[in-house]
Amino acid sequence: MNYEIEHDSEHEQDCSCCGNTSHTIFGYVHADESTLAAFCVKWTDGHELDNPPWFLLSMGAWGDGSTGEERVTAGCILIQTDDGPRFSVVDSSSVEWRSPDLVGRHLTRDQVMGGELAAHFFNLLDQITLGSEQIGSLVGRVHA
Ligand SMILES: [Zn+2]
Repeated sequence: MNYEIEHDSEHEQDCSCCGNTSHTIFGYVHADESTLAAFCVKWTDGHELDNPPWFLLSMGAWGDGSTGEERVTAGCILIQTDDGPRFSVVDSSSVEWRSPDLVGRHLTRDQVMGGELAAHFFNLLDQITLGSEQIGSLVGRVHA
């Protein structure tokens, strides 16, 4: 499959605790002719340890006529370990603030990790860090 990462919108604001710049990127993961997921990634400069970046993926059908009933949303945070950054799946309701009508049913960590969705979810995360220079830099990925 040919993956393409589309940045739909980017926002910056001052972090409420430290005043550093917080970044939010909304976008889509496309593969060939279809859209596999919408994503939202948020992080704050210089703030990776106590306030890790988080990633939300709303997976399923997108496009005209589709609704949240055709999607599920899963979330993870990017934690720093001795071996480098690593994704840790969380209950998406702890980071997802948007309605299930838009992003789909909020999955718990157990629902993601215990199902077939986990491999799909981690592949999409990989594609996002591969296809976006800004997001890739969060995981230490260097783009040519
Ligand atoms: Zn802060």
